[in-house]
Amino acid sequence: MDKNIHVPTDASIILTYRCPMRCVMCNIWKNPTNKKDEIRAEDLKSLPKLKFINLTGGEPFIREDIADIVEECYKHTDRIVISTSGWFEDRVVALAKRFPNIGIRISIEGLSQKNDELRGHKGGFDKGLRTLLTLKHMGLKDIGFGCTVSNNNSNDMLSLYQLSQSLGLEFATAAFHNSYYFHKDDNVITNKEEVTNNFKQLIEWQLKENHPKSWFRAWFNMGLINYIHGGKRMLPCEAGSANFFIDPWGEVMPCNGIAEPIDVREMNDQSATENNASSTPNHGTPLSWSMGNIHDKPFMEIWNSEQAEQVRSMVRRCPKNCWMVGTASPVMHKYLKYPAMWALKNKLRSMNGKPACLDAQWCDVGQDSCQGDLRDRL
Ligand code: SF4
Repeated sequence: MDKNIHVPTDASIILTYRCPMRCVMCNIWKNPTNKKDEIRAEDLKSLPKLKFINLTGGEPFIREDIADIVEECYKHTDRIVISTSGWFEDRVVALAKRFPNIGIRISIEGLSQKNDELRGHKGGFDKGLRTLLTLKHMGLKDIGFGCTVSNNNSNDMLSLYQLSQSLGLEFATAAFHNSYYFHKDDNVITNKEEVTNNFKQLIEWQLKENHPKSWFRAWFNMGLINYIHGGKRMLPCEAGSANFFIDPWGEVMPCNGIAEPIDVREMNDQSATENNASSTPNHGTPLSWSMGNIHDKPFMEIWNSEQAEQVRSMVRRCPKNCWMVGTASPVMHKYLKYPAMWALKNKLRSMNGKPACLDAQWCDVGQDSCQGDLRDRL
């Protein structure tokens, strides 16, 4: 057991793969979970104290017992953020009345026409925006948009940013990825120049803001540009060390970025057979990456197990270079000086009317240099 592995800080709990949306960049909705198989509040009792829990899906609000889950999660953390489409407006509002400190990020992929086209449901933008306006009116503080940039919406991302600024809402970004989780292998940015230029504009705007959090988001967005161009992650992936995911069947995973077949079949030889001992049936999760199942053992027993160590060693050699907030945020906090130095330098440049310095640098913090190396795997 690696003596550097302590208690994790961040968790993402995937409550369901059921979803009412029909997004073009995500096929989770085509592969729904069976309601009766999904983890429940009581399954989360053995979680340790954490800094942050993200509840996600599918659509978390499709769960009628979401309040019980939130109640249990608040025993383990002071900060919970739920990622949602906002489709179930009344349920979001009802939950916010009961838990006014809850964080809500509504996934919106563009202005009304673009959002509804990409999310496959007419009226999705209106519902999402109306929900946010209601939450704002109720006095919730930790609310905002989450926008996943694909080929055709980076222009709209800028409009959404402006909208979020004028409404005083948070604004989180992502770029679409391929993974077992999304059931996608064709999410590739083809108009790199256009998307990059729009992210550059966003970075300039974020550096003009007064809040340091926005300057760190600018650094994260530089990481998205780097990802789009196939660069190595600027900071290592420490999925399964600082953070973990739990899937709807209770499997404790390091991340949701794993892609078949590159990672699992090639990297994982004997641990695949050893790790398949869980009593829960596999419904599509690459079990070779599972640290264990919370139906079988208390969380910390899983976390400190040999199986978890094997998964961490796979992460250390993982060829992918995902840049998603769930695995970027913990290392940004851990290796704070790298984003902080960039943020300070570029805030000063911004104040002096100079463009941000966007030569995304790979930060050597002692990681295995094989991580993110795709040369032999493509
Ligand atoms: S780079 Fe990290 S987040 Fe991506 S698949 Fe590998 S271990 Fe998971």
